[in-house]
Amino acid sequence: MVIQITFLKGMLSVFCAILNWKRNPTMQTLEPIYLSRLQHYLFCPRQFALIELEGIWAENQFTAEGQVLHQRVNQADQQKRGVIRIVWALRLAHAELSIEGVADVVEYHKQADGSEIPYPIEYKRGKPKTHRADEVQLCAQALCLENMHGVAVLEGALFYGEVRRRHPVVFDAVLRDLTVQTILACRAIVQTNITPKAIYKAKKCNKCSLLDLCHPKGFHKSAAAWLAAQLIEV
Ligand code: SF4
Repeated sequence: MVIQITFLKGMLSVFCAILNWKRNPTMQTLEPIYLSRLQHYLFCPRQFALIELEGIWAENQFTAEGQVLHQRVNQADQQKRGVIRIVWALRLAHAELSIEGVADVVEYHKQADGSEIPYPIEYKRGKPKTHRADEVQLCAQALCLENMHGVAVLEGALFYGEVRRRHPVVFDAVLRDLTVQTILACRAIVQTNITPKAIYKAKKCNKCSLLDLCHPKGFHKSAAAWLAAQLIEV
């Protein structure tokens, strides 16, 4: 009963988002948002805009570590282990929410009636975080899987490289709503085509791979504008 209420509340949030989406013709013409970008938005809306609008990307120690962790799961493959079918690098999409991406791993758990329930697992470097960005990305995968297979996906897991353990994530109404709101916020940035101003926060910015391109301490407009200003000076 609790599971059904959670699922229905979450679906209501998705339904409202789709309704608003369909009422806005401009939004419908925009390209799908890539699932990993949701995490970028929650880390820093400016980071999302620099990557999405200005096509800027740079690696640092943290992104490189993430890539190493993903080497195995980035190869499309599948395998059966007992009642679980495991699929690696599965392409996901939700046309109505206009999101798409690739799940690291999806386990399909066979039920007594022969049906399968998907269980997404996302690999992350480090250890469980105090923020919800990783959970939002995973929940967006669950929304795609529900849409693709027409079944309720109520739980998944984050696998953290440092602790090498699965951290279960329940897709409750609060997380589903946060995920939908994040998708809409990303959409709004793409629609307005405006890069948010930088707000320097040492703890966050010093971990950001775009630090040298963003100039959060000295320049608060877009990185493209900064680059243009440098060229004019030359
Ligand atoms: S350097 Fe700081 S403000 Fe700039 S994108 Fe990264 S986290 Fe955001």
